[in-house]
Amino acid sequence: MVRRTRLDENIRPCEEVLASLSALYMACPDCPKEPGLDKSASFSSLEAEVERHRRCPSCGKAPLDLVMLETLKILVDHDLRSRSEDLRSVGWPLVGVGYPLSYPPRLGKRELIIVGENLTAKAAAEIVEGVPEVKGVIRGGGVPGVADLKAGPHRWELLAGSDLRCDVVESLLGEIVIYKHQSKIHVEFPRQSAPKMRILEELYFRGKMTTVADVLCGPGTLGLLAVLGGAKRVVLNDAWLPAVEDTILNLKANRSILGIEKIERPETPAGEVGAESVLAAEAVGENCKIEVYFGDAERLFSQAEPTDLCLVDPFPGMKFDRIVDACRVCGEVVIV
Ligand SMILES: [Zn+2]
Repeated sequence: MVRRTRLDENIRPCEEVLASLSALYMACPDCPKEPGLDKSASFSSLEAEVERHRRCPSCGKAPLDLVMLETLKILVDHDLRSRSEDLRSVGWPLVGVGYPLSYPPRLGKRELIIVGENLTAKAAAEIVEGVPEVKGVIRGGGVPGVADLKAGPHRWELLAGSDLRCDVVESLLGEIVIYKHQSKIHVEFPRQSAPKMRILEELYFRGKMTTVADVLCGPGTLGLLAVLGGAKRVVLNDAWLPAVEDTILNLKANRSILGIEKIERPETPAGEVGAESVLAAEAVGENCKIEVYFGDAERLFSQAEPTDLCLVDPFPGMKFDRIVDACRVCGEVVIV
């Protein structure tokens, strides 16, 4: 049975996110000055600063330093950090809408996800409850996702709140937003993804965006950019169901920018790690058809029609020789 998808209430369409960007993390004229705390100073020496800094009386935003310090205080209270540990010991602060910032962000409510080690569900719940800017707390180390189908997925754990955030991806092909459930999809900073963008832009300028596959698509970034680049048919595939689900979420979030008219889900995938290729979603627009598969990349082209260009974006540490071999049915295979 074919089922139509509805727009998820937790995601905002790309055009709305882009329109909000310029002021999103900026201080207002009334914001207290940036605390500029020493990130390597011990909690003991910073403790008094908790009282000294305030949220802005006008815009309500808090400087990142204050949010991290209040979080550290909760971790110290729970004996998860010692008084000699510093702000960096809290973990990674991931802003809810990621894009390159040249200044420390001022955060509104529920705009930060913290990824750290040595955390408990109890402390995480207290952080989400007590620090208004924190949207979610994830316990994690290493890279989440599937690097090796036989070894199975490596997981982070969402301890409290929500792990849904997005990154704004800028390229010469255009801008899109890529949502991800961050406890299940690896973090990619704009700096790290920049070389991939250059490869994609070069392919675009060489006129290679005709029919394109992205066989290890993660949340769909490269494939969706190929649609923006004018590809008539795009095939996306991943063996990790959370990546496939986030790809489908991103078709919805970028629907109008990609010119998508309808999204259908012909098959409901079973299991978290796919083997045989299953067509999980199909999106059709005036100029493009997008197919989203769930399954082992080595088996993708036994189901999907091969493409002119095939992108292989391997996971850190992944063996991908056999995937590349299986993709040779396509016109050109590019490892990004
Ligand atoms: Zn303000």
